[in-house]
Amino acid sequence: MKPERKIRIRTCVVCGKKLTKDDLQRLVRLPDGTVTCDPTGKMPGRGVYVCKDAGCADKLKPERLKRALRTGVDADVCESFADAARQGKTDM
Ligand SMILES: [Zn+2]
Repeated sequence: MKPERKIRIRTCVVCGKKLTKDDLQRLVRLPDGTVTCDPTGKMPGRGVYVCKDAGCADKLKPERLKRALRTGVDADVCESFADAARQGKTDM
């Protein structure tokens, strides 16, 4: 019997690259509608993934997020997300 490998592949919403969760940051729409960064990847809600690469975070537009999460998203969220990526950390 082979041990099961649990590598979760997710797609970056900006560039469409398929990467493991280790290489992606998660943004989540919480059940109350708040959109926030989810460094643990464990928050409940609909999530989208973006490369940890700051280039992708910079290109993330509120419209893109809005479509992916099916909710309104403040430009602030994208900005703080890009800032966090630039600083190499995922907590905001
Ligand atoms: Zn990307």
